Amino acid sequence: MRRKLVIGNWKMNGNRAGNAVLLSGIAAGLAATTGERADCAVCVPAPYLAQCQAALENSPLAWGGQDVSPHAAGAYTGEVAASMLADFGSRYVLVGHSERRGYHQESSELVAQKTLAALAAGLTPVVCVGETLGQREAGQTVSVVCAQLEAVLAVVPVAELSKLVLAYEPVWAIGTGKTATPESAQEVHQVLRARLADKNEAAAAGMQILYGGSMKPDNARQLMAQPDIDGGLIGGAALKAADFLGIIQAV
Ligand code: PEP
Repeated sequence: MRRKLVIGNWKMNGNRAGNAVLLSGIAAGLAATTGERADCAVCVPAPYLAQCQAALENSPLAWGGQDVSPHAAGAYTGEVAASMLADFGSRYVLVGHSERRGYHQESSELVAQKTLAALAAGLTPVVCVGETLGQREAGQTVSVVCAQLEAVLAVVPVAELSKLVLAYEPVWAIGTGKTATPESAQEVHQVLRARLADKNEAAAAGMQILYGGSMKPDNARQLMAQPDIDGGLIGGAALKAADFLGIIQAV
């Protein structure tokens, strides 16, 4: 039985005062929940990792970054190394978010290298895949997400596969209020798990595959009730403690 995982992606939002309120609200809500329903984390802008480390030390809420350099160290101005994220206690890092693929022209091969860098630093990479609206309408959803996954599977050693988290995020559903139906999301999750199983059945069976794209407290339960949807990657609704907690409570 896979444990559910709910990760908030703050994107480029926040400030120290507002973060303090949000983090303490989430932590208090988690403490008040009887029994841990799910693993939970927030992926925050890199400057706020130290604040997370200080605020969340004894909390069940983990934290992490939103991107990572494929390089270990050196003359890469502006980049953040995986070891730096780990240095601030990060557990997770997003790789290949569609906003990185889209606005920064990140190829699937680069995403694969970032995945390796994260693993080398002991982080859990959350590998994001997803199709655009045009690709969906052209019937290319499966080929697009499988190609994105394939690039990662081509470089990650089979023995390391169980350390990955996968997130299916249809690009047309991110920040738009449009959500994939639970059934259509499940279809894609099932395809991804089957592809993983071709590589390694045990890793596929154990891997948490998250859905992301306008998940909210009122649609989270149905989505996460699907057999291959193991949690959510949450953007907008992760910026309000009540909404984020509402999604966790829907597990
Ligand atoms: C995201 O940024 O990964 C995301 C899923 O955003 P939203 O929940 O706002 O659609």
